[in-house]
Amino acid sequence: MLPTGAQRQALLDALSEKGRTPENILAVAKQLNLPTAVVEGVASFYTLLREPDLEARVCIGLSCQMQGAQAKLDTLVAAGVNAHGVSCLGQCDRPVPVLDHNLDLQDPGPRGAIMPKNEELPINLAGTEDHTYAALAMCKKQGPAWVLDELEASGLRGRGGAGFPTAFKWRAVAGQAVTERTVICNADEGEPATFKDREIMMRRPHLLLEGLAIAAQTIASREVIIYLRGEFRECHHILSDAIDAAPQLAPYNFRIVEGHGAYICGEETALIEALEGRRGEPRIKPPFPTEVGYLGLPTLMNNVETLANLPAILNRGGEWYAKHQTKLYSISGHVHIPGVYELPIGVTMNALIATAGGPIGTPKAFIPGGASAGFLPMSAADIPLDFENLAKADSMLGSAGVVLLNDTVDMAEASAWQAHFFAVESCGQCGPCRIGTRMVSQAINRYRDSGDNAELTPIEDIAWEMKEGSICGLGIAASAPIESAMKHFPRDFA
Ligand code: SF4
Repeated sequence: MLPTGAQRQALLDALSEKGRTPENILAVAKQLNLPTAVVEGVASFYTLLREPDLEARVCIGLSCQMQGAQAKLDTLVAAGVNAHGVSCLGQCDRPVPVLDHNLDLQDPGPRGAIMPKNEELPINLAGTEDHTYAALAMCKKQGPAWVLDELEASGLRGRGGAGFPTAFKWRAVAGQAVTERTVICNADEGEPATFKDREIMMRRPHLLLEGLAIAAQTIASREVIIYLRGEFRECHHILSDAIDAAPQLAPYNFRIVEGHGAYICGEETALIEALEGRRGEPRIKPPFPTEVGYLGLPTLMNNVETLANLPAILNRGGEWYAKHQTKLYSISGHVHIPGVYELPIGVTMNALIATAGGPIGTPKAFIPGGASAGFLPMSAADIPLDFENLAKADSMLGSAGVVLLNDTVDMAEASAWQAHFFAVESCGQCGPCRIGTRMVSQAINRYRDSGDNAELTPIEDIAWEMKEGSICGLGIAASAPIESAMKHFPRDFA
């Protein structure tokens, strides 16, 4: 028997409150009438449940490694602190972040920059919050067919990573025979080097909430769930206050659910599994969540940035948006002013670097869209950072988590950091991914220890196995960093 969505709250809350001790596992299993193995299976999956007693979680994502994260972690451990390195914490625009026992940031330092206020920008992070919810009122007045037509005309594509046409997804849910439906906001921002959704939630929460209400109104749902990254405590408070302050949201049942620490839960079916109280393991598709989603109901799931574009699309029209479409690019690494910049979609890397205050040192490589996008050389810095052109360059826009690396970085070491990330974050249900990510990580480390290129020979075959035998994007993309680094920077592997 698997825990159902109704039991989720009890199961995960009890585990997170008391910790994953053997006694507690038994007590929770007895209390909820679940097999002990099921409770242990859930508890062991999520880092925040698995390691509840950690005193410090140090981010060891790529951007933080370039700032000396490993040395910071080693210092804490040497001082007797119960500290672990954890995957990207979404604070790449700050000095190496450390979360304390309560998941609060220790000495966080200032956040990065954003674009100056500009009413022409669809999201306009520096803008003043609009509490009128005019787009929602228009949505109610004009009806769902009008909203779907405007959305289609806008050409909006999902901003979480996959880039799926948003109107297509909304129409798929709206056309389901089952009338009980759910809207879910994927706010589990965990793609390394990505922190744009954090900024939307902190600076423009009403844009997101209005987008969610428009989605619910259009697909005839009253249930709205925001699945929020558990480490984003500040965002939780801001969103809760914003929901309370907006009477326009009263007809909808808004709920914020905190994640418990698992990168893979950014994948939509894994997120649904987590919401239903199970291990966050992606499902085989089809069926897609638009047909069979949360609790078996048709489910519309969109990313924070995708939803935050809705007010501009309805207020100014889909055609206007199509001509003025922007993208939030998070940029970190070797630039003078890291931050979140809203720029026309398809801006070049060179232009983005200039916006971010120019490079620190001599640029060598960049990542255009999170860990899964691999590395590109600076000769590609004039390629438009959009879905189509980056795909042609064997890369991807993904979440537009951009990192610039200068010539002090050894690409074999950078590949090792990325490979470690995928090995740690694989959910483990597909053999090729579970084993392959670890084999790739170990092969790079052995190469770095010995300097023997023969250690890298198996990587091509392992990568093929992972691409062919994985059911979700993590396994398919996990070899991208090492393969792209070996292709574009052969001297670092000589
Ligand atoms: Fe899990 Fe990897 Fe399979 Fe994705 S590809 S479902 S992360 S084991």
